[in-house]
Amino acid sequence: MKTNCIKCDKQLGNWDVAYPEGASQVHPLGGTVFRSYGNYGSTVFDPLDASYLDICVCDSCLSTTTHVYAGVNESYKQEQAEARQDLEEFAYNTLEEAN
Ligand SMILES: [Zn+2]
Repeated sequence: MKTNCIKCDKQLGNWDVAYPEGASQVHPLGGTVFRSYGNYGSTVFDPLDASYLDICVCDSCLSTTTHVYAGVNESYKQEQAEARQDLEEFAYNTLEEAN
């Protein structure tokens, strides 16, 4: 699968091998994907049925745009820290068992 930057239309590869079950997802190489479930206020996309849109932006466009609204999702940050800790414990225990 190929993806395209929504701003400049550059074609980006997709990391299909990360989804060997055949359930390929939008995962651009050299870019970022943004997912939206719609927005109250949009007259184009606000389905309220769990459907979504994925939009790709290439790294070049993302690094040069001034219209970015950044933030930190603290609960997601905590989930990531716990997942990293679980992975480190798994790796440590696997090494201990091997020795
Ligand atoms: Zn682009």
